[in-house]
Amino acid sequence: MSKGKIKVQAENIFPIIKKFLYTDQEIFLRELVSNAVDATTKLKKLSSIGSFKGDLNDLTIEIVVNKKDKTISIIDKGIGMSRDEVKQYINQVAFSGAEDFLKKYEDKNDKSGIIGHFGLGFYSAFMVAEKVQIITKSHIKKEKGCFWECDGSPEYNLKEHDKQERGTEIKLFIDKDSEDYLEETKLSNLLSKYCKFLPVEIKFGTKTKKEKNEKGEEVDVVEDNIINNPNPAWTIAPKKLKDEDYKNFYKELYPFNFDDPLFHIHLNVDFPFELTGVLYFPKINAGMDLNRQKIQLYCNQVFVTDSLEGVVPDFLALLQGVIDSPDIPLNVSRSALQSDSNVKKISSHISKKVSDRLKDMFKKDRPNFEKKWSDMNIIVEYGMLSDDKFYDRSQEFALYRTVEEKYYTISEFSEHIKDKQKDKDDKTIYLYTNNLDAQHMYVSKAQEKGYEVLVLDSPIVSHVIQKLESKLEKASFVRVDSDIIDNLIKKDEKIESVLSEEDQNKLKPLFEKALPKEGFIVSFDSLSPNSSPIAITQSEFMRRMKEMSMTGGGPMMGMGNMPDSYNLVVNSNHKLINKINGLKGKAKSNLIKQSIDLALLANNLLKGEELTKYINNSFKNL
Ligand code: ADP
Repeated sequence: MSKGKIKVQAENIFPIIKKFLYTDQEIFLRELVSNAVDATTKLKKLSSIGSFKGDLNDLTIEIVVNKKDKTISIIDKGIGMSRDEVKQYINQVAFSGAEDFLKKYEDKNDKSGIIGHFGLGFYSAFMVAEKVQIITKSHIKKEKGCFWECDGSPEYNLKEHDKQERGTEIKLFIDKDSEDYLEETKLSNLLSKYCKFLPVEIKFGTKTKKEKNEKGEEVDVVEDNIINNPNPAWTIAPKKLKDEDYKNFYKELYPFNFDDPLFHIHLNVDFPFELTGVLYFPKINAGMDLNRQKIQLYCNQVFVTDSLEGVVPDFLALLQGVIDSPDIPLNVSRSALQSDSNVKKISSHISKKVSDRLKDMFKKDRPNFEKKWSDMNIIVEYGMLSDDKFYDRSQEFALYRTVEEKYYTISEFSEHIKDKQKDKDDKTIYLYTNNLDAQHMYVSKAQEKGYEVLVLDSPIVSHVIQKLESKLEKASFVRVDSDIIDNLIKKDEKIESVLSEEDQNKLKPLFEKALPKEGFIVSFDSLSPNSSPIAITQSEFMRRMKEMSMTGGGPMMGMGNMPDSYNLVVNSNHKLINKINGLKGKAKSNLIKQSIDLALLANNLLKGEELTKYINNSFKNL
């Protein structure tokens, strides 16, 4: 038996490891299981090139907990280590890895900003163990088994061991503060977080399954509990997978999401960076737990993180799925990650892939694409706003729905309305509603005129419109209730007013008196006798500025708190207005009040006491 001393500069590196990484203790399991996986894949590789001649047999990695002895063992049947290798790899390589890691880690002020902790490796065992043993035997036949033990001081024991089977067992003697790791549920949660898709089968405990025997009786059959799927969808060639396989993989990733995804994108890049993955467009619904269903980042099938700010473009943060890349730097701060050139390329590559896929689906099966559109709309809109390249690419597939449930791309729609919806200055006017129910009257008036009305009802619609207006030539978006119908698309024709200007000036204060004190501006307009006698409108400009400042940004920050202001437009050619003009005294003011109340009611603006009075009066007149 030999005793040695690990060469340490700081004698107390182990306590540092323990304390320093306190919050991330749990990664010890990922590190040790990854090492076991590496040892196994290395052996497979040696076997495939003929350097290892023996039988591989069963290569399953095993996690064994002994509650009585308070130990956790990670056992593999991989390449194993000879005595010299233990000396070299564990005492020198592993240790210097740990030391390097600490140096890097100490530089970082912001601990939470570190993604993953690769590089700490084997020594992370000491975050939870007071003593660690290695029992190992090399795949090289002539090498004897070997035993290494270290209690967290820089001293270690190394001696021969009569282990016969090839491979390595790492045995952790869990310390008092970390005994919760001996709980089966805790361990199995950790395994499913970090090891769910590792490429070698991992066994943890047993499970019983009901099976029928020859007599047809149900019996309990005990079998190994394999906790991982070594061949997840993203590692398989897309050609070999069916739609069903992608759906099943989605369920495996997000077992609590009962909706099927809308569609998937299989990523497969090897230049200029290596990246594989499967991304899903989810069906977005209000009850969705966005924090638990994020995109997960893996490095060679080892789970790293699901905080991916910077790697995936912001507007795609609602996507789900997996990205696996050995090229994403894992132990750097988030800001360094965002400015990494590989990461930037990855981000724009993903954005391109997403638009390619959408374009492809649109071209191949437009009816199906239209069916899914309302679910993807918001993500695409967000992308159009935040990524100019995506905006350009989206022009081919971004859809706009009319109140008649027809879908157009913006260029199709422009073509479709160009004859009817040009104003006197040759501007194309895109009419829209954001609430079909509330604006029904305005929509039907527009339809009577033969105009098409779009439904633009996403929460960021005012920003999207602003963007479209800046990109399209001579285009203006106008909500159907922002002016009376004849003025929505201003043509050159002018109608003479029946009511004289003098009469109008006399009537105006009477109308003003019948309205609430603030928020209304009364004006007269000589409209077609068939238009409404009184219309209430809200200027497109003012309303949109207010909406934009409420949903962030926009040229008029702070306008969000302003009260709404409305225009009350009186049609000086309507016979009701002429009738009012002919009346006197109480009859006149009563009819004005009644007409205004009706107009307010039509816009859901008659409320409280005024509404009660109106209803009571109406009942009286029945
Ligand atoms: P890393 O895995 O990053 O190289 P580690 O500290 O985790 O660093 O491990 C150091 C070395 O110890 C590994 O490179 C490997 O050669 C050896 N090693 C660790 N665990 C095992 C194992 N289960 N089987 C064989 N070799 C191992």
